[in-house]
Amino acid sequence: MIRPWADHSLAKELDVALKAVREAGLLCRSVQSLIDPGTLKKEDKSPVTVADFGSQALVCRTLGEAFADDPVIGEEDSADLRVPGNEDTLEQMVGHVQKLRPEARTDEICGWIDRGGSKEYAPRFWTLDPIDGTKGFLRKMQYAISLALIIDGKIEVAALGCPNLGSGLKGDRGAGTVFLAIRGVGVWQVPLVEEGAPIVVSASRQTDTTQIRFCESVESAHSSHSDSARIAEHLAIVAEPARLDSQTKYAVVARGEAEAYLRLPRDNKYKEKIWDHAGGVLVVLEAGGQVTDIKGRPLDFTQGYKLDNNLGVIVSNGHVHQAVLDTIVELGIGEF
Ligand code: AMP
Ligand code: MG
Repeated sequence: MIRPWADHSLAKELDVALKAVREAGLLCRSVQSLIDPGTLKKEDKSPVTVADFGSQALVCRTLGEAFADDPVIGEEDSADLRVPGNEDTLEQMVGHVQKLRPEARTDEICGWIDRGGSKEYAPRFWTLDPIDGTKGFLRKMQYAISLALIIDGKIEVAALGCPNLGSGLKGDRGAGTVFLAIRGVGVWQVPLVEEGAPIVVSASRQTDTTQIRFCESVESAHSSHSDSARIAEHLAIVAEPARLDSQTKYAVVARGEAEAYLRLPRDNKYKEKIWDHAGGVLVVLEAGGQVTDIKGRPLDFTQGYKLDNNLGVIVSNGHVHQAVLDTIVELGIGEF
């Protein structure tokens, strides 16, 4: 594969991140293919647990092999899997990991998961959401595997795997896409499974705010749908919002298929988690877009695993950003 980033000092980091996310993507797909929506009870979250832990194990193993000293702030902790009653889930997870890493033993796999158990800020660390958008995963809709490297509080490298997002190109069979970015260098998409030349990704150039296509969470608990409707009305936006789970929303803005992604807080208590954003943020910035919180502040990745200094998230192609922020002020959104 031609690697446009080959000469960059972080090329190895991006190559390793791509390998890790691709392998995790394969595991997630094989777990997802076994879900039968007809028989899965609403309260049964076990397939997502299996894939979540399996994905984290594979990514942390690959990172550990290449960068043994780098801490990983991941979403999962294997202690949650080792509690009584979870034996079946643990066994299934181990089985899925062994399909890709046949030599791996249970204890070793749990050790890999725990490599992702860091919660503290460090001068250089990775952050991982092994399955972002768990509800989308269960619904067989959009979900993502998000991995980013943060150095001195800046996101330097990102690999955002979207196993159910097509390439956007003609003739695509929805085989899954990975978005790859290095700060100051660029962003590309590659297929999740097959080898393929990286394609440059760029955000929309739309400046007319009435023509904004925006996306938001499927879950109204994660982002206020009523406030986004007020913004849409105020700006006379014509299109209906696209509701998608996970950081695929960042990918859609980066690729110019939407002008904005609104994440509007319902209170000032909830703190966004860094793994829900880091990968997506760099993908959008390198595509020419902009990311701030609802007050216009850049996201601050120096606070440990939470975005303690931010409230909500606004993502855009850059051109419509200020208009969205002004509307938020005018409508008093986020004044709790
Ligand atoms: P999305 O698929 O964009 O709705 O985002 C999924 C993520 O939302 C999950 O990974 C959670 O970490 C996060 N989340 C959980 N509760 C909330 C909340 N109250 N507000 C915002 N995000 C949340
Ligand atoms: Mg998440």
